[in-house]
Amino acid sequence: MAEKIPFLTREQAAEIDAVIPTPFHIYSEEGIRKTARELQAAFAWNKGYKEFFAVKATPNPFILKILQEEGCGVDCSSETELILSKACGFRGKEIMFSSNETREQEFALANRLGGTINLDDITLIETMENACGIPETVSCRYNPGGEFVLDNAIMDHPKDAKYGMTREQLFEAFRILHAKGARHLGIHSFLASNTLSNHYYPRLAEILFKLAVDIFRETGIRVSFINLSGGVGVDYRPEEPKNDIRVIGEGVRQAFESVLVPAGLGDVAIFTELGRYMLAGNGALVTRAIHEKHIYKEYIGVDACACNLMRPAMYGAYHHITVLGKEKAPCDHRYDVVGSLCENNDKFAIDRMLPRIDRGDYLYIHDTGAHGFSMGYNYNGKLRSAEVLLCADGSFKMIRRAETSADYFRTFDFTDFRFE
Ligand SMILES: *Cc1c(COP(=O)(O)O)cnc(C)c1O
Repeated sequence: MAEKIPFLTREQAAEIDAVIPTPFHIYSEEGIRKTARELQAAFAWNKGYKEFFAVKATPNPFILKILQEEGCGVDCSSETELILSKACGFRGKEIMFSSNETREQEFALANRLGGTINLDDITLIETMENACGIPETVSCRYNPGGEFVLDNAIMDHPKDAKYGMTREQLFEAFRILHAKGARHLGIHSFLASNTLSNHYYPRLAEILFKLAVDIFRETGIRVSFINLSGGVGVDYRPEEPKNDIRVIGEGVRQAFESVLVPAGLGDVAIFTELGRYMLAGNGALVTRAIHEKHIYKEYIGVDACACNLMRPAMYGAYHHITVLGKEKAPCDHRYDVVGSLCENNDKFAIDRMLPRIDRGDYLYIHDTGAHGFSMGYNYNGKLRSAEVLLCADGSFKMIRRAETSADYFRTFDFTDFRFE
């Protein structure tokens, strides 16, 4: 079984805690850069390749700047994410806008920034046209329906997903967009989330490449780019296999060579919109054990709660836990590790075998760098934590301060109430 190794020591956690009290999310600059470079290398065979980092996974400007330095663009899903990306200096074709149930003002902003709009539905052509006309470059999201089978197992049910257009709608959308003047058209599809198979992207690529060939044959329209979106997963559990991005890139290249090149479409650019793969393992939630309770089970209470990391409560998601400084100690205690919400699902771990935990121990909750802080909320008056960057030179930097109660009260009218 592969060990999951924290990128932070107990001493470093204590040093940070003295300045930025727990709980906090911490990200490894070195890890982020390494992941981005490996991804770029895996797709270097494609001339137009670009990764558009899914901003919703980790919407922090310092993280986005690092990714920008590594050659990534951004994939935005809302007006606020567009504003954030603009503030970070992303411009024009570095911005992808993949949203659904989109409002005109959002299309207008995406277009003003020069971003590429990815249409979730054929009816949105009209919404977009009203908002900003028909841009030169437009993408359409495809939903093949049915079941998505990979490695002889059903991975997901696209027929039940709210996203994308049917095949017929996609062809029709291409005809309409082309007739109205769009010249660079692309296709996008997201068929399974958090996949742990090197075959996911190659299989998806094959489906989309064949679709591009069919579009070309039936309509004469050449697809300019194909967006494989997100979905490449991470090994949250130590026993899970790790994806090998080089194998994944090579699998996509083979599909490209065998489907697109013979059809004369060898100049298509490949895009990705990875969120989880880029950041999950390069972030952790550091929390302190503040209480222990012995009733029918053994509980360790920590100073973080589901408001800081929603995935276990929301999906029953597994996040590995390391007790810092006790990496080598035997895991001979069975605990439920719990937060303080008045919700019984506020449990980071249930029946987890861990070393004996003492009050004051730092618990390192792994793989929270994507869809961690960003899914935070304020239930029970809980406040969002700080975010910290562990810089490549070993120093640390606060990249977002923790919320205070004043932040929580900011949206009330202070002339009616006094909050002290
Ligand atoms: C969420 C999302 C992504 C990123 O997904 P991951 O599973 O984090 O890689 C990419 N594209 C779109 C359109 C998304 O909604």
